[in-house]
Amino acid sequence: MTRIPFNCPFVTGREHAYIQQAIDTMHLSGDGPFTTRANRLLVQMTSSRAALLTTSCTHALEMMALLLDVKPGDEVILPAFTFVSTANAFALRGATPVFCDVRADTFNLDEKALPRLITRRTRAIVVVHYAGVACNMDAICAVASAHGIPIVEDNAHGLLGTYKGRPLGSFGVLAAQSFHETKNFSCGEGGALIINDESYRSRAEIIREKGTNRTQFFQGLVDKYTWVDIGSSYLPSEINAAYLVAQLEHAEQIQERRRRIWCRYFDGLTTWAESVGATLPVVPDDCGQAYHMFYVVLRDLTDRVRLAEELKRQDIHAAFHYVSLHLSPMGARFGGQPGDCPVSEHASACLLRLPFFTGLSEADQDRIIGAVTAFISCR
Ligand SMILES: *Cc1c(COP(=O)(O)O)cnc(C)c1O
Repeated sequence: MTRIPFNCPFVTGREHAYIQQAIDTMHLSGDGPFTTRANRLLVQMTSSRAALLTTSCTHALEMMALLLDVKPGDEVILPAFTFVSTANAFALRGATPVFCDVRADTFNLDEKALPRLITRRTRAIVVVHYAGVACNMDAICAVASAHGIPIVEDNAHGLLGTYKGRPLGSFGVLAAQSFHETKNFSCGEGGALIINDESYRSRAEIIREKGTNRTQFFQGLVDKYTWVDIGSSYLPSEINAAYLVAQLEHAEQIQERRRRIWCRYFDGLTTWAESVGATLPVVPDDCGQAYHMFYVVLRDLTDRVRLAEELKRQDIHAAFHYVSLHLSPMGARFGGQPGDCPVSEHASACLLRLPFFTGLSEADQDRIIGAVTAFISCR
């Protein structure tokens, strides 16, 4: 039996030609024609004011922290069940991440747990649309605006997902996208900063260009190119942008394949899940999901370990997900303690992600579904 990996990069076929074109135009550094094309496509996909390609989602999150002027002593509320970069970007600026528990159905930031975490020091609320299923943005936006606190989105999973028909990435003043190999659209390593509040735009361009006004200089808006603010180098090369444009141009086909894979898993596992006390992803009616992943939540840690091991024995590679950040060594330094975020802890212990990638064949998926449905809970 062949190995079924957890993830496998998808190649649309146009990547080579575009990279060749980048080489032929002799423009390989950032902000060339392919970056412009990628930015335009991202503006359309998110209905945003502007998009700036970055070297990663992590870097886009770091840019957000700089743009929001997050400082030591500030607090930033984020879900406990997320990737380290969501917290690190703000911790790097000396802020304290405040871990909010997640909802038991979607594993998104729990809007009911949010109000009591807000203090005079709260500088931002970061939402993560887990698995590409939207947070309850109506409730979260209401809390945020009542306190005058900006929302930003870590939209690494959510590109092309919607909430009440509106694209994810368009809710925060800023949003971050990822084009890491494991995401729906990829260039190996890459990301983007999505801007919905125009007032952040010119400073974002400066921060991304090493704290210089290079972008304005090339637009003929200033006559000297010089150091004007803090910043770093957050722009990717045209080679990466060329690869990404090929992927973004095939977004519809990619999403259609992923939708089919997701639905086959859901249909194939529903009866089994009921029989072993496991649950499958919940997509609320007002959410159009982004088909980023498929997971099962087992009854307990023992079941999850047993199922993961059984799949591995059959050379099928399933993966756990986040160690709840408040339980990590770094989270503990910010005061995180076991029991603080029980739902997030449950997800850390019991959630298992099944192989999910654009090129997954029906035969391989049938093998996975067969292996999972053969699993019997020993309780
Ligand atoms: C993948 C991911 C990131 C980091 O993306 P990079 O592009 O690898 O920096 C951040 N947040 C979430 C929720 C992610 O899934």
